[in-house]
Amino acid sequence: MELIFLEPVFKETVWGGNKLREVFGYDIPSDHTGECWGISAHKNGDCLVASGTLAGQHLSDLWREHKELFGPTADRAEFPLLVKIIDAKADLSIQVHPDDAYAAVHENGSLGKMECWYILDCEPGTTIVIGHHAKDAQEMRRMIQEKQWSRFIREVPVKKGDFFQIDPGCVHAIKGGTLLLETQQSSDITYRVYDYDRLSDGKPRQLHVKQSMDVIKAPFDPGARPKPQVVKEGPEGSKTHLITCSRYACFKVDVNTCWEEDFGGDFTNVSILEGEGRVDGISVKMGQHFIIPAGYGTCQFEGKLSFIFSQPR
Ligand code: ZN
Repeated sequence: MELIFLEPVFKETVWGGNKLREVFGYDIPSDHTGECWGISAHKNGDCLVASGTLAGQHLSDLWREHKELFGPTADRAEFPLLVKIIDAKADLSIQVHPDDAYAAVHENGSLGKMECWYILDCEPGTTIVIGHHAKDAQEMRRMIQEKQWSRFIREVPVKKGDFFQIDPGCVHAIKGGTLLLETQQSSDITYRVYDYDRLSDGKPRQLHVKQSMDVIKAPFDPGARPKPQVVKEGPEGSKTHLITCSRYACFKVDVNTCWEEDFGGDFTNVSILEGEGRVDGISVKMGQHFIIPAGYGTCQFEGKLSFIFSQPR
């Protein structure tokens, strides 16, 4: 079995910048590139295999035709996860995602979207929007209808290395100056509840106020925040458990010299975030994304590098 290296898909956005080139060295289409879809089989950005015997095939082709690579989740209709790097130069709109049940009914059978963020970097003083201050659903609807944004929106300081889980129904927004890695369900459904009254091409961007009010959970529970824990540590490196939820498990590994791991019977998404080295003899550097097939056996990372890996649940 071989590691499956992927070609990222880039998305230009009104709020994107140039850090995907400046920091990761990607060949981005413009200086307002907001997203690098590093591991995706979604129809809006289906990654190609970059090298090896499967080179040139889409990840969605592999999902359909090479079930043996993916382990017990391979019987699902779609590749379940999507891993992105996001460069927000400007603030994103305040948004919320539906869960699987709501998306299935209202979005043509799409998956809902649960996501999590590992903050790779941010400018000093940056904040992030997570949750809201309404005490119940009735107050949530009233605050939105009356546009009481400063009372409604919950904003917290953010720094490099922070980690956030965004469940469906959680109001959220990234502010300008934030670079992060997002692991999410493979879905592109976002409801915009407020866009700071900005205009793009002279018009406000479309909002989805009704859908937002349908799916926003109230009250928000600030205590539910995940608490990453170091689960293995030694001179060779360390491993931190970021989260295990109903859709994925995520870990971060910081390798000092050499790291060996058997990822078991599930396929594993790997994104190299810092440094360079080798994986089973193949040279890798920051910005590369690959999949370790299910049942691959022990994988050896050498060098000084950091990566985040995820598996489906
Ligand atoms: Zn989101």
